[in-house]
Amino acid sequence: MIELVLASNNEGKVAEFARLLAGLAVRLRRPADFGLSAPEESGASFVENALLKARTAARLTRRPALADDSGLLVEALGGAPGILSARFGGEGLDDRGRVECLLRALEGVPAPNRRARFHCALAYVEADEDPAPLVATGEWHGLIAEAPRGSRGFGYDPVFLDPELGRTAAELSPSEKDQLSHRGRAFARLRPELARRLGMPVS
Ligand code: IMP
Repeated sequence: MIELVLASNNEGKVAEFARLLAGLAVRLRRPADFGLSAPEESGASFVENALLKARTAARLTRRPALADDSGLLVEALGGAPGILSARFGGEGLDDRGRVECLLRALEGVPAPNRRARFHCALAYVEADEDPAPLVATGEWHGLIAEAPRGSRGFGYDPVFLDPELGRTAAELSPSEKDQLSHRGRAFARLRPELARRLGMPVS
């Protein structure tokens, strides 16, 4: 078993990665297992932040690291909250507070103009100075619902509506979300090369 650090202390993401990585012989470790908190996210893009998180985790734990940087881009808000999704509305808010803040910002905006997309960038490094990191991105297009629905998932899931299914991300089963989501899509792209790097069969 290879130890792989997942550079996130976000419970929702960790649960998704535990599913996505099933089948690869890796033992998932988290920054908290090493007494570390989440690193600063000072990059200008999701990819830069994912690389920064992966490199920092690899340096501090001396293990290979996988990081995710993701967020929600809302068309009517000019792409906000984007890379600032985790801090939308201020530092003191929880997921529910951020959802309320988003709904207030979109009050009176009719359905066709509530288009949004989730973006996910994944970065894998073997060591902090890895000159050939693996990077993959994925997106999920949808609409922001008028009110929260569903109890699964995390973050903005209760208000992110998949227009084809007519259900929010929080109303999907975990495997349905993995097939459609920005994270699931990015991971599907990363997985074959990640398996090769880890010396495991590409299934
Ligand atoms: P990060 O830890 O800086 O990447 O923050 C990601 C932010 O985007 C958090 O506020 C999450 O709640 C939100 N986010 C990312 N992916 C998802 C998702 O799959 N569902 C709901 N919210 C998400």
